[in-house]
Amino acid sequence: MSEDSPELPARDLRTLIPEYAGLARTTTLLNPEPGDPDVRESSLGGELLWPADEPWPYCAQEDHWTFGTDPRNRTEIVPGAVPMVPILQLYARDVPELEFPQGKDLLQLVWCALVHEEDPGPVMPRLYWRNEAEVVAAGTLSALPGVSEGEYDEDHMPQPSTLAPTTAEDCPRWLDLPEDMWETWEPRLRARTGRAVWPPDSNVIATKVGGWPAWTQPADWPDCESGHRMEHLLTITGDIQLGDCGGVYFFHCRRCPGRPWDWRFDCH
Ligand SMILES: [Zn+2]
Ligand SMILES: [Zn+2]
Repeated sequence: MSEDSPELPARDLRTLIPEYAGLARTTTLLNPEPGDPDVRESSLGGELLWPADEPWPYCAQEDHWTFGTDPRNRTEIVPGAVPMVPILQLYARDVPELEFPQGKDLLQLVWCALVHEEDPGPVMPRLYWRNEAEVVAAGTLSALPGVSEGEYDEDHMPQPSTLAPTTAEDCPRWLDLPEDMWETWEPRLRARTGRAVWPPDSNVIATKVGGWPAWTQPADWPDCESGHRMEHLLTITGDIQLGDCGGVYFFHCRRCPGRPWDWRFDCH
C-alpha cells in the first residue's frame, strides 16, 4: 500500500463492495497459550489421545535433516525413521463450528519436525479423525515416543499449549478474491472515494479452524481426486517458526467419502 492511498476501514469497504461482505465466513481462532494441556483437552503441541493398538507414526524420508546444535551446519542428516511430533488435537466440543465426519469427535494432526529437501518446512503431515469414547474404551498409549535430543528441528515444534477458542469473522485475502472483483474493485472505489484505495485485509492471520487461508503468495487451493475444490480446514501459523513459511494450511473435501485432505505451505 502506498502512502497516498490510506487504508479504508473494513466496515466502509464492505458497504462499498457488498460482495466482499458476502464472502465472510466464521473462523474459530484457537488462541493457544503455553501451558500443560491434558491428553483429554484440545491442545497445540500437547500429548495426543492415541489408541494403544495403533503404531505411532514415523517419518522415514531419507534426506531429512536438522540444523543440529551448530546453526551453520545445515547438513546434519538424520538417518532412519524418526517419530512424528504432535501438532494439534481438537475435540469437537471445543470447535462447534467444525463439522466432524459422522461418528467422529476428535481431530489430530502430526508431522515430521525435521527439515526436508523438497519442502521448505516440515512435511509428511498426517491427519486423523477419531471417536474419543472408542479410543478410551480400547485403551490409550501411555507414553508417546520420545523425540531425542537433536533429532528434530525445534522451530517445527509448537510449545505445548492449551486452547481457548473464540469465533471471528474472516474474509479472503486480496490474493484470494474472485477475478471479477479484482477487476472492478479499484474503479469502483475510485468512483466512490475519489482515489484508488487498496483494500485492507479483513483476513485473520492466526492458528484457526475454518475461514480463509492467509496466503502470502497467490492462492493455491487443492482439488480432490474427483475435481472438487477443497475447503480450508485449518491453519497452523505464528505459534511456530516455520523457516520462511507463513503458515501451513490444511484442506479437505466434505463431498467425497473418506474426506480426502491435502495441505499447502506458504512461504515469503
Ligand atoms: Zn522427516
Ligand atoms: Zn471431493
